[in-house]
Amino acid sequence: MNYKDDCIFCKIAQGQIKSSIVYEDSEVLAFLDVNPVSNGHTLVITKEHFDNFLMVPKDLLDHVFNVAQKVAQAQTQQLGAIGINILTNVNEIAGQTVKHFHVHVIPRYEGGDGLTIDFEPLQIDKFNLPVLADTIKSGI
Ligand code: 5GP
Ligand code: ZN
Repeated sequence: MNYKDDCIFCKIAQGQIKSSIVYEDSEVLAFLDVNPVSNGHTLVITKEHFDNFLMVPKDLLDHVFNVAQKVAQAQTQQLGAIGINILTNVNEIAGQTVKHFHVHVIPRYEGGDGLTIDFEPLQIDKFNLPVLADTIKSGI
């Protein structure tokens, strides 16, 4: 398996740094975020090092998101979460601070928590949307 020497999540994946584990198998690890924005905020990572979401092979990515769903279901059943945010940041501009692929599974509760997501729509010409869609489509 490919690990990176200076990567904190590689060290967590190998058990060299302790974490509070909620799920583990040979490919994937889920553990509590040490600076949670809500009670039970969990990170799901591949054990192998990939810099971010864009780099992860499809089957492994499927597996990560299946685990994320299980974690989210458990947060709902066991912790009483009434909502969930699933988030993965790609690169610094998007808020990625740890450069080892991870998915945040963030349970949400009545009465608030430490997460605010504000979508502020751009003023755009809606007539351009079909052209933009075609541009993206051509890359898939
Ligand atoms: P990012 O901003 O890269 O999407 O998220 C990185 C997350 O990793 C942050 O929420 C941060 O609190 C968490 N984190 C950073 N270092 C550690 C650590 O050593 N252990 C644990 N459990 N979480 C960490
Ligand atoms: Zn790593």
